[in-house]
Amino acid sequence: MSKENLFVSDIHLSEDTPQVNDLFLSFLKTRAKNAEALYILGDLFNVWIGDDYKTELSKTLAQEIARLSQSGVKVFFLPGNRDFLLGVSYANKTQWQVLTEPTCIDLYQQPTLLMHGDLLCTNDKVYQRYRAFIRHPVVRFTTGLLPLNFRIKIANKLRKASKKHQTNIPYTNLDVNPLTVIHFMQKYNCTQLIHGHVHRQAITEVSLNSTQIAKRFVLGPWNKSGSILVCSPQSCHFETFLANSHAQ
Ligand code: MN
Repeated sequence: MSKENLFVSDIHLSEDTPQVNDLFLSFLKTRAKNAEALYILGDLFNVWIGDDYKTELSKTLAQEIARLSQSGVKVFFLPGNRDFLLGVSYANKTQWQVLTEPTCIDLYQQPTLLMHGDLLCTNDKVYQRYRAFIRHPVVRFTTGLLPLNFRIKIANKLRKASKKHQTNIPYTNLDVNPLTVIHFMQKYNCTQLIHGHVHRQAITEVSLNSTQIAKRFVLGPWNKSGSILVCSPQSCHFETFLANSHAQ
């Protein structure tokens, strides 16, 4: 079996994007099958309001991921800002392992920090306050008790408010804060960082101190094509997944 580890994020699956959904399902059935492990680093779904919100899409996806898990590929999921409510019930269906954020893994002897990325955007104080509030256990518990229809309405309102907020603040506030990146990497003693969220695929160098240079891999979003970070014992590089590139 191949020794490759694959990393993806920001697929933003939704009922409104059949092409992206098909692309990702085809990725699971073909390219992902040859991997040792698949890490999904958040925002797999464009919105998730609770495991009791079931759609054809969420069912089909769970089946395909379970199939992948059963074929021997280790699948990991680290929640993003849009799907942090994905819970135990859905994890049982997919058979993936849920990772807490941040998680440090040993990637071919390189301590590598995995995050979704929104925690790194500390220039946006309003968002960070909202994030702390919405993820608070008491808030999660109470909103979980609300009827599904009501939660759908709240989610729609929040998405509209988020869009408005994003157009009203300076562009730099939506990006990661370089000092926060260094802070997290030093705190968890990691020489590599892999994250998504900002939707700009990149490989950059980070100076942790005067002697140590670390690497930061920023995963790209999925739309007409898919962005995959492929790590083997030799290197990590980006690969583009296209609809017809891996015909069955
Ligand atoms: Mn995100």
